[in-house]
Amino acid sequence: MTVLPSRFPSDHRPQRSPALLALGVSAGTVLALIALGHDGRRAAQVTLLALPALAWLAWPVQGIAAHRLRTAFVWLWAMAFALDGVARAYLLDAYQAAPDSALVLGAAANTNGRESAEYLSMHWRSVAVWSATLFFAALLLARCARRGARADMHWPRWAIALLGVLLLVSALGYASKPWRRLHPLAYWGQWGVSVQALRASWADQQQLRSEALAKAKRAVPVVAREGPATIVLVIADSINRDNMSLYGYGRATTPRLQALKQQLDGDMVVLRNAWSADASTLPALRNILGFGQPASDDPQHVLALARAAGYKVWWMSNHDDLAIEQQHARLADVVEMVNRVPGRAGASLDGELLDCVQEALQDPAERKLIVVHLMGAHPHYSLRFPSGENPFDDHVDAVEAGLVKRGRSAWVRQFRHEYDAALMYHDFVVAETLQLTRMAGPAEEYRAWMYLSDHGQEVGHVSDRAGHSPSTASGYRIPTVIWRNLPVSPAAPADMERRPFRADWAAWTLADLLHIRWAGGVPSRNVLSDSYRWTAPVLPVDVATFLE
Ligand SMILES: [Zn+2]
Repeated sequence: MTVLPSRFPSDHRPQRSPALLALGVSAGTVLALIALGHDGRRAAQVTLLALPALAWLAWPVQGIAAHRLRTAFVWLWAMAFALDGVARAYLLDAYQAAPDSALVLGAAANTNGRESAEYLSMHWRSVAVWSATLFFAALLLARCARRGARADMHWPRWAIALLGVLLLVSALGYASKPWRRLHPLAYWGQWGVSVQALRASWADQQQLRSEALAKAKRAVPVVAREGPATIVLVIADSINRDNMSLYGYGRATTPRLQALKQQLDGDMVVLRNAWSADASTLPALRNILGFGQPASDDPQHVLALARAAGYKVWWMSNHDDLAIEQQHARLADVVEMVNRVPGRAGASLDGELLDCVQEALQDPAERKLIVVHLMGAHPHYSLRFPSGENPFDDHVDAVEAGLVKRGRSAWVRQFRHEYDAALMYHDFVVAETLQLTRMAGPAEEYRAWMYLSDHGQEVGHVSDRAGHSPSTASGYRIPTVIWRNLPVSPAAPADMERRPFRADWAAWTLADLLHIRWAGGVPSRNVLSDSYRWTAPVLPVDVATFLE
């Protein structure tokens, strides 16, 4: 009698299948990634939403087609949760923000291809780390998904009981609306809708602008000064005053502004303790131009007010930004967005705007307000100065030594070189706008110039990071400089220079430079006024003193 060789083990008791292990490992992987992006309770809720499809791995599937279908389905399903966890973890890491925060929604709705590319070239390290995490999770999950049960399995009792209970709770989760909204497909689907809605709401704000102008007219603003007037407002982006030698920085980043300060002395007020109330552009501009009042107060817009008072208003910008254009720029009589002109796109330098400034200064209008919106040192820093013009990256100076001493990584120190080089070019552009303003028109004509940044920037100052920084004081430390050709220089500008200043009150000072009087003026928020009364802004970071 021959013994037929058998393809099966002689013991026909079903094996304890690798499927149980596959289920455990895939659930663990998904949980780990979810926990990176969600807090404790949420992480548990989301994992339970992921469970039913993963549990399919334990269900025996005979046919090869069904097996392949299951493998693909379980992998895609698990990857949706993994992506969700990693995307949230990245945003928490980089911005301490959730995907549906105003910051992230605004940035996503406002971003164009060029900006995305600049962003990636600046933040590729952390993007690479998170992508690698996701890649290895994808490999592991693919291995697990292929190991689903093919035949009956021998299950330990406790495993059956545990899985049963968890699936029951999961079913409750799917029955609950707020819970099932956490499912990545539901959540990110809704997120996409929100981004689209935000973009659509910016697409045409003509109606809102007409209302702002009508509202300004109703306040009956008048110019309390005879004769022609020219006021230039320069708004920069991402400038931290700690990196300006004008403010005592160790590298000579602002020689031109310092020379002007020496020359102009009392006419040029350098506010030593200037702060923004916001760490990103959109809220900062809304505050700067809207008198720092919440939207619920239906505040005046300073451009509308200036126009209603009889000023001709210019907005010239090196930003290519739909929201800013719709919310602010188009309130002006003349709008010039130089970054959109073909051929200059990409890395248009702020100096491109100087011709526009000069042109506006030569305009025959009697009263002019010229707003110049610069890129400043907005990331990517290396695009903000002419290539090859970085004087700070070829030798070790005290700034570099200090960064090394504080343990800043090589790439953050490299960003600091580039940031400082961007500031040095910025010094040229800003000083040039002041020079042009000073030289325009007859000497006796009243002229004023105000310069500030929308927010600050962290470049290894208090943490080993570079970029916008809602969570460190560096994100709010800005420069503010005011020049006026006054008939008599004030006796003690030093006192004024030490006053703390907040950018969200900038419009009160600008209105004073414009000599506008209207129902609703609050002189105690004008830093140039004798009745200035400081109140500290509420920032999401601890600031020991605003007097530094
Ligand atoms: Zn900005």
